Parts: sequence; structure tokens; C-alpha cells
Amino acid sequence: MIIELKNNVSEARAQELAQELKAFCIHYDGRYTLITSSSVKELEAKYHSDADRITVLNDDMQLSSRAWKQETRTIDINGVKIGGSTNHTLLIAGPCSVESEEQIEQSATLLKELGISTLRAGAFKPRTSPYTFQGMGLDGLKLLKKMREKYGFNIITEVRDATQVEDIIEYSDIIQIGAKSMYDHGILKRCGKTQKPVLIKRGFGTTLQEFLQCAEFVLAGGNPNVILCERGIRTFETKTRFTLDLCGAAWMKEYSNLPIILDPSHAIGYAYGVPDLARACTAMGVDGLLIEVHPNPKVAKSDASQQLNHDQFRELTGSLKKVAEAIGRKII
Ligand code: PEP
Ligand code: MN
Repeated sequence: MIIELKNNVSEARAQELAQELKAFCIHYDGRYTLITSSSVKELEAKYHSDADRITVLNDDMQLSSRAWKQETRTIDINGVKIGGSTNHTLLIAGPCSVESEEQIEQSATLLKELGISTLRAGAFKPRTSPYTFQGMGLDGLKLLKKMREKYGFNIITEVRDATQVEDIIEYSDIIQIGAKSMYDHGILKRCGKTQKPVLIKRGFGTTLQEFLQCAEFVLAGGNPNVILCERGIRTFETKTRFTLDLCGAAWMKEYSNLPIILDPSHAIGYAYGVPDLARACTAMGVDGLLIEVHPNPKVAKSDASQQLNHDQFRELTGSLKKVAEAIGRKII
């Protein structure tokens, strides 16, 4: 149940009610709002004088649902807006990992040339093998910050454990919670305490409900700026790395009020399929796309097989603009 309290209810009173009702308490849209389990279906009469609007929901996908807030949330990333009634698709691009200053500078120059505002690269890499490159860590974050200062990008990078959240907040503009960390409640709860935009990737064995409930940890913690990212789920198919769940994306578009980003690179796992998938994603009118691009994919230290080279990426951005235009949207 979501209980939006009247505008004149003080913080002290809201906290008192939260304790009594065992509810989360957030400040949203200028007033305090309490969130209990969805199994609560009725609010005792004695509380009604504090409540302005009560929404009873069928399940624990509550703050993220259109049943509660019909319109898609607008997320403002230092003046770059996504979601809401904006008619654009944010192109997020960059190499899988920061590998060196020279490499990330080459990526930055490419994005600048193409007018792309959001640079993404990992510094803390949650790899599936302990024997592979694990990322440059803090040195990588410092290089990303350097690119932000030099070129004015918004930076998105992944947090691998909760102890890194402070550094990620300092050095970047969007916190990425990866598919493998999506259930890390230390990370989710810490991200609920900041107002930084958080992009959560769907785990590859995660149902849509489980995915949305992870987002609820951040939303109920007090951070309204959550973006969902579908990056492929595991099916019986082995010819591609994962299967991009476009049906799931359509479902989220229909039932969730959170902006949606699609990541065809990690889904298929092979560069040959990324342009076609990216065009299909754009045609769905989603809020953003995440594409991996590397100056020399053959020598990339992670996800080498799926990263586009610079020429392939230039060509792709040209065609994405046309697809977006055909459905009345813009790539930004
Ligand atoms: C990544 O974004 O580079 C990554 C590791 O992705 P995922 O969390 O989707 O596996
Ligand atoms: Mn990657």
C-alpha cells in the first residue's frame, strides 16, 4: 500500500506513522509518502486524517508501477533529461572497461565527434572468471573523471560492491548496478540514500517482478531516479550469449513508470548482431540504448567479441537517427 500524506504532515509525524505501520517513508513530490507491504489492503480509520491518497496494489511492484504513477518518471542527469514526456532516446556508449588513458581518450574523442553526451566504461569489473582482467579500479575512475572534466560528458560506471558506492558517486553521474550485482542489497540500500541516477541491469536469470522489486529497494530507500536496463536473459539458446527480452521491455513500458534502456551488446555478445538489434530497440521507442564500442575490439581486455569498432559505430549512429526519426523520436 502506498499512502501519500497530506502536504501539511510534518516529518516527525510521518516518521511516527512509518514506525507504527512498519512502512518506508520517503519525501516525494513535495510530501511524505509511506510504503507498506502490498499485503496490507486496508488502512485503519485512525490514520485517514493524515492521508491524502491511498493506493492499494496487487504486489510489491509499487513505487515503480504505473498503477501508482501513470506517467514515466523524468530523470535529469545534469540537464540531460530522459523519460517523462521527452521524445528522445539517450545513446550511452563506450568501451566495456577503462584500460588506459590512451584508450579512454580515443573513446571520448569518438563520442565528442558524434555529439554523444554520456560515456560509459567499467572500472570495477565483476567478471565471470577470477583469472581475467578485473578492471583498473580507482585509477579507472580517475581517468573517467578526467574525461568528464575535459569533454563535459556524463559518466556512467558500475559499482561492484557497497564499499565503492561513495567513490562511484564522486567520480560519475549515473551509478550502474550490473546484472551480477542486482541482488546485492548493500548496494541497493546505499543507492537508495543518494539522489544520483541509478541504472539497474536485469540479472540474466531474473523475472520481471524480481527485477522491479530490486528497483523498489532503491525507490523505497528515497532515491526516485532509477532507470531499468534489459541486457539479455539466459534461455535454452547457446548460439548467442543471451536473449534480448524485447517482450519484457514491452511489458516494462506498459506497467512500470521507470525509464527503460536496452543493451543489445551484452545480450547477443557478438558485434555482428549489435547494429540490427540496436535499430530494433530504437524502433521500440525506449528511453535509451547502451552500446559497447572500443578503439580496437580485438585487443579489448573484456567483452572483446561484442564491441563495435569506431567505423561500425559511426555507421550505426547514422542509421539509428533515421529509425528514431521514423517514429517521431530523436537520438541524443
Ligand atoms: C557491463 O556493462 O560491462 C557488464 C558487465 O554488463 P552486465 O552487468 O549486463 O553483465
Ligand atoms: Mn561489457
